[in-house]
Amino acid sequence: MIVDYHLHLRSEGQHVSHKVETVERWVEAASKRGVAEIVFTEHAYYFFEMRTLLTVPYQIDHCHVSIGPYVEALLEAKSRGLPVKLGLELDYYPGREDEIRELLARHPWDFVLGSIHYLDGLGIDVEPSLVGSVGAKEGYRRYFEALGHAAASGLFDALAHPDLVKFLGGVMDWDREAFVGELGSVCLEVSSAGLRKPHGRLYPEPDLLAAAREAGVGITLASDAHEPDDVGRDLEHAVEHARAAGYETVTLFEARRGRQEPLG
Ligand SMILES: [Zn+2]
Ligand SMILES: [Zn+2]
Repeated sequence: MIVDYHLHLRSEGQHVSHKVETVERWVEAASKRGVAEIVFTEHAYYFFEMRTLLTVPYQIDHCHVSIGPYVEALLEAKSRGLPVKLGLELDYYPGREDEIRELLARHPWDFVLGSIHYLDGLGIDVEPSLVGSVGAKEGYRRYFEALGHAAASGLFDALAHPDLVKFLGGVMDWDREAFVGELGSVCLEVSSAGLRKPHGRLYPEPDLLAAAREAGVGITLASDAHEPDDVGRDLEHAVEHARAAGYETVTLFEARRGRQEPLG
């Protein structure tokens, strides 16, 4: 089975469009690509309701819509029997776990995807960056330490673009086994989005994925599409990547409970 568990509900041109008609366009595009189920994971920082969590200017600048229409459009699409799920891409804000839990409890999420785009106010894939400030080796250490804490927080079902730090830090050697040992039941996302970035690499690197497989960690599949044309894009490469690491199943979620389905 091919599924896409990381999508931002926008119309063509990446305009925010939290409407059931837009969901229908994505469903059509997904079905043309052979994608059986799609999960929208809009950025939590877009929503007024999450405003109290935000400290980074970029995220505050993008906090401009209410969460209601997003949730309602997806619940309406689900009630019509469309193969969609209600998800959220939520940054990990260390120390704010209780507030986040309370905000999450307000809506019937199927899937919550954890991300780290900023750490200590510095970007992971944008400048001014963590890596630029402390170097690649220390940047990797801090990034994966925080991602381990995100997994342990119990807030997330999967971790998005797990080795995003390579965006500016490059590919390097680090202690993957210790990291995957902390993941427990939290999945790692296998994402084709990196193929569309300057580094041109899938997330995560093969050695991290193999270590995760060895530790019994599940995976989700993702394109991180921001417009309907990109839904399911390059997922055949993500499936191949997962198979090469030894994976035979992919994790699907409903009401935040995971189950395994054959991969590809
Ligand atoms: Zn992201
Ligand atoms: Zn995303």
